[in-house]
Formats: sequence, structure tokens, C-alpha cells
Amino acid sequence: MHAPGKSNMSEPIKTDVLVIGAGPIGLFAVFELGLLDMKAHLVDILDKPGGQCAELYPEKPIYDIPAVPYISGQGLVEALMTQIKPFGATFHLGEMVETIERIGDPSFRVTTDRGKVFEAKVVLIAAGGGSFQPKKPPIPGIEGYEARSVFYAVRRMEDFRDKRILVVGGGDSALDWTLNLAPVAKRLSLLHRRDAFRAAPDSVNKMRGLVAEGKIDLLLGQVGALEGEDGQLTAAVVKRDDGSNLPVQCDALLPFFGLTMKLGPVANWGLELKDGELIPVDTATFETSEPGIFAVGDINWYPGKLKLILCGFHEVALMAQKAHRYVFPDKKLFFQYTTSSTSLQKKLGVA
Ligand SMILES: Cc1cc2nc3c(=O)[nH]c(=O)nc-3n(C[C@H](O)[C@H](O)[C@H](O)COP(=O)(O)OP(=O)(O)OC[C@H]3O[C@@H](n4cnc5c(N)ncnc54)[C@H](O)[C@@H]3O)c2cc1C
Repeated sequence: MHAPGKSNMSEPIKTDVLVIGAGPIGLFAVFELGLLDMKAHLVDILDKPGGQCAELYPEKPIYDIPAVPYISGQGLVEALMTQIKPFGATFHLGEMVETIERIGDPSFRVTTDRGKVFEAKVVLIAAGGGSFQPKKPPIPGIEGYEARSVFYAVRRMEDFRDKRILVVGGGDSALDWTLNLAPVAKRLSLLHRRDAFRAAPDSVNKMRGLVAEGKIDLLLGQVGALEGEDGQLTAAVVKRDDGSNLPVQCDALLPFFGLTMKLGPVANWGLELKDGELIPVDTATFETSEPGIFAVGDINWYPGKLKLILCGFHEVALMAQKAHRYVFPDKKLFFQYTTSSTSLQKKLGVA
């Protein structure tokens, strides 16, 4: 599995645990591993930590993190980064893990597409949906407008202030961004192919309220063509069910048609896969079919699995217990609380 003949292969970086994916679950893994004295390096394709929270919904509120009534996607990432600071994990961003090769029992050589090599006693796959990519609508010439006036994610709401925005879709992302962007947009229209929505009923009701108040427009149909110059949209031509065309003046088009979860190289790591895309794990340890390789967060599967951040947080706590046995085979592990253990508090830098 190791990619021979790659140039720029570097000296191996040795670590206890190599974490693939710096999403919320990979980040919290650093904390649980650190409490048990395991050092981690993290690799992520993205140029910043935070996974889906940072990339797809940095400004959206999350309401179901235990004991945190409200936090934005980016806020959660920042809080996690603060929480794991005492453990000094090393980040390798903008790199994709390509291969994992077993070199010991357990011990692994892991390589990235940039030629970096790691040697780790334990590998933790926290790769979420793999390299996730937005599904693109089949509109001729749309590529020419992408990143200029067609966006598949909202990084900064301010970028859309006083713009005429056309949001397309009927799921949660489309409805959430309709509600969030309506107050900043000059005018916002939501376009969906039919007058029924998959999004949360509460969001749909709020959206209909805004339409009734005349604050936003709801259009039915599909975008058939785009008009504009040099990547800057001026209008989207909406094809309606009766065959007529309606030009909608807009500065920005936001199609939310869901994400394609492209597993990427994870599929080639010789692991057992469920439905070709998820990694089955033992729920006592979150270990995969390969001893020493663990999978946590959205990438794993077990009966009853829910792709929720709080579930991933639980998973890494149990994973760390088993990982400890591989990293320190001769050390006995004692269960301790952070509230009462001076030794844990010293690791956290608070005692
Ligand atoms: C719009 C939206 C709203 C959501 N709201 C909530 C909510 O309110 N509450 C909640 O609990 N959950 C919510 N979720 C789900 C939540 O974001 C995910 O459950 C969570 O992000 C999973 O975390 P993760 O760390 O497992 O994976 P991810 O966040 O997907 O991170 C995985 C990381 O791994 C990286 N990666 C993948 N393959 C490789 C590779 N080969 N090499 C290097 N890096 C790799 C990716 O680049 C990515 O950064 C929401 C999701 C979306 C899309």
C-alpha cells in the first residue's frame, strides 16, 4: 500500500497516534488521548481544522452539544482548539493521507500526498464523510461562475451583505441559509422544484412566515441557464413547470443540493467497509477490523450509529482506553476524573 517512487519522501515523523481528519471528533480525540499521555499528529485535507463545522457551516448555530446551549460551527472548533492546547498536537493541514501500511504489531507507516511519512503505533481514522464535495446542479456553464458568484457553502455571511441572492434547494442547508441570509441580503429568493420541503418543519414554517411578510420570495422551478460576464452573475433563468422562463436578477447563486461523500483513499486501506463507505467498528473500543486502527465520528458504523458530534465525543473516550494498551503495553491504566485527579490537572496545566 505504501506508494514507492514518490519524490520528496521525508524522514518518518514518529508519533503515538496519527489522527486522519481534524474535524470536531479528531480534535476531541487529541484531548482524550492527551489525558492518557498519548501524543498525536493530525493530518487534514482542508487548510484549517474543524471539518464540516468549519468548512460547511461555520456561522450556523449548533444546539445539541451537551451543556452548551448554543454555539456556532466555528465557535465549537475554536473551543475545541483551546481545550486541546495543553496537549501540543501537531497539525499537518492541506495534506491528504493516501496510504497506511502495517509495519509492526501494531505499528503503521502512513503517507500523505505531499510525501510526508509518519510512523505511528496507532492510527485513528476520523475522516468524516471522506473528502466531501457539494453536488452540483446540471446548469450549462456553471463552472465559470463558481467561487465568484456561485457558492456551495457560506463561509462568511458578510460577503453576501446587500446582494441579491438566489438560494436553490429544499433541504436543511437551503432553508437554514435562507433564514440566516434573509436579514443581510438586499433581496433573497428561494427556489425549489416543488412546494414541499425536506427541511426541518420549523425552518419551513419560518421561511413561509418571511414569504407571507413579503421579506423574501419563494419561486418554484429549476435554474435552466445563467446570465452574466466574467464569472459575475446578473441573472438566473428559472424554468417553471408550465414551460415558461422567468429571469431572476441575482448577484449570487447558492445551490444546496447536498454533499457527495467521496470516501477517497480510505477505500484503499484494506479495511472492511459497510455499504462501501463506512467503517464498521467494535463499540467497546471503536477499533476496526484491523487491530491498532480505530475509526470514530461520521466515518464509522455500528448498529444504532448517529452522525452527531456528541456521539463522536463519546467514541473517542472509549477509543483512547484501548489505544493506551497499544501505545503503553506495560502500563496499567487507572480510571480518573478531571475534577479530582491532580495528575490529570497537571497535564491540563491547571494544577
Ligand atoms: C449543515 C450541517 C449542520 C450540522 N449540524 C449539526 C448539529 O447541529 N449537531 C451535530 O451534532 N452535528 C451536526 N452536523 C453533523 C456534524 O457536523 C458531523 O457529525 C461532524 O462534523 C462529524 O465530525 P468528524 O470529525 O467525524 O468528521 P468531519 O467534520 O467530516 O471531519 C473529517 C475531516 O477529515 C478530513 N479527511 C477525510 N479524508 C481524509 C484523508 N484521507 N486525509 C486527510 N484528511 C481527511 C476531511 O477533510 C475533514 O476535515 C451537521 C452537519 C452539516 C453538514
